[in-house]
Amino acid sequence: MTAAWTVVQCDACGGAVAYDPNHALVRCLFCAAVALRPVPVDAPPEPPNAVVTFAIDADAAQAAFGRWVRRSWWRPKALHAAAASLQPVWIPTWRISAEVELHWAALVAAPTRSGRRPRTGVDSGCAEVLVPASGGVGQGEMSALRPFPATHRPWQQDDRAVPSELPCVSAAGALAIGHDLLLAERLRVVSRERSLSDAGGTAELHDVRTSLDALPLWIGSFRYRDRPWRVVVNGHSGKVVGAAPLDRVKIAIVTAVVLAIALLLARCDRDVPEPSVSGAVTRSR
Ligand SMILES: [Zn+2]
Repeated sequence: MTAAWTVVQCDACGGAVAYDPNHALVRCLFCAAVALRPVPVDAPPEPPNAVVTFAIDADAAQAAFGRWVRRSWWRPKALHAAAASLQPVWIPTWRISAEVELHWAALVAAPTRSGRRPRTGVDSGCAEVLVPASGGVGQGEMSALRPFPATHRPWQQDDRAVPSELPCVSAAGALAIGHDLLLAERLRVVSRERSLSDAGGTAELHDVRTSLDALPLWIGSFRYRDRPWRVVVNGHSGKVVGAAPLDRVKIAIVTAVVLAIALLLARCDRDVPEPSVSGAVTRSR
């Protein structure tokens, strides 16, 4: 990013993005608030090292939203024709790769009464994990949007056409989280390869590489009964994550039907005569 980049922060949600002033940003990408405040920066923020490219354009993102909103019978029919206002954004994430020296302890199959016995070992292998660094998109949303492809390419000047969220997790902070994720990833692989169960262990990391990458997201909202509903779309796969209103009339009808059936069953139950003593089953204690 050059000095020509503008950084704004949202007073409502705290989200901060850097963007090219040629592409005006009037609302916060994360909460649609207009409380955007230019942030003075001493030095232009560092651009991401690499990006996972957008595979779907605005029309495809809108089509994915349409399929998502029509998928559930519980959603109001009036929503079927709704359009979301979606904007592209680069979401920062740390890509951490390392050679993981894994010291593991686990149970393996053995001719014992339990059918298992303990075993320990040392195993080395490469692993790579992504640690989200976004403040505007929560961990839950990012997990639900997965997977993102492993293929990425270096950041280019043209990528500035899309606003970039500034990372809110440092490389050191990401590494602390990444260490546990790398350990878990290698334990999973080694457990599968060696048929281990209940595996645990510790990890020493070698040749650690951290890279601040950007993931492609369409983010925005749609309105229903004068209330905005937030929605995010994976810019590569088109997977949609968000909350949507439910049809109150359908809920009322289903509740009434369930209640009526319950009442009917209760009444039938009352009408059935009690079994005679001779017909009762004697239970042993
Ligand atoms: Zn905001």
